[in-house]
Amino acid sequence: MNGGRKVLCPHCGEKTLVRERKVFDENFSPVGVKFVCAFCGGELELPSASDSVPAPSKQEEAAERLSRLLGGERAAKAAFAPEADDGHFCLHCRNFVKHPFMNRCGLTMKEVQAIDSCEKFEAAE
Ligand SMILES: [Zn+2]
Repeated sequence: MNGGRKVLCPHCGEKTLVRERKVFDENFSPVGVKFVCAFCGGELELPSASDSVPAPSKQEEAAERLSRLLGGERAAKAAFAPEADDGHFCLHCRNFVKHPFMNRCGLTMKEVQAIDSCEKFEAAE
C-alpha cells in the first residue's frame, strides 16, 4: 500500500523508495508487513504504517471476500445466456430474422445480435 512512496531514510540518509517486507512468525505464516529502505534495508517507521496496513487476518478476509465477489459475478455472468433470460433478446423476438451470415431485425432491417435487446421487443409466438 505504501510501496513506491518516497521517504528520507533515517539510516542511510537517502531519499529512498519504501519497500514492503513481509514478516513471518515461527510457522512461516505472514503476520504483518514492515517497511524497509530500498537502499540499506533499514526498517522504516512510517507514521501511517500501522493504520494503513491491515492485519493479515483482515487481508485474508478481504481476499476471500473479493474472490467470493468475483465468483458470484462469474456465476451471474454464466447465467446471462439467452436461454436463461426472461426472453427480452432479439433472439426471442418475433421480428428477429435469423440468417446464417447476418441476423437482422425485421423492423429496422439492421444487423442485430441474438442477445441484443430493444424496446420494440415482441415475444415470438
Ligand atoms: Zn536507508
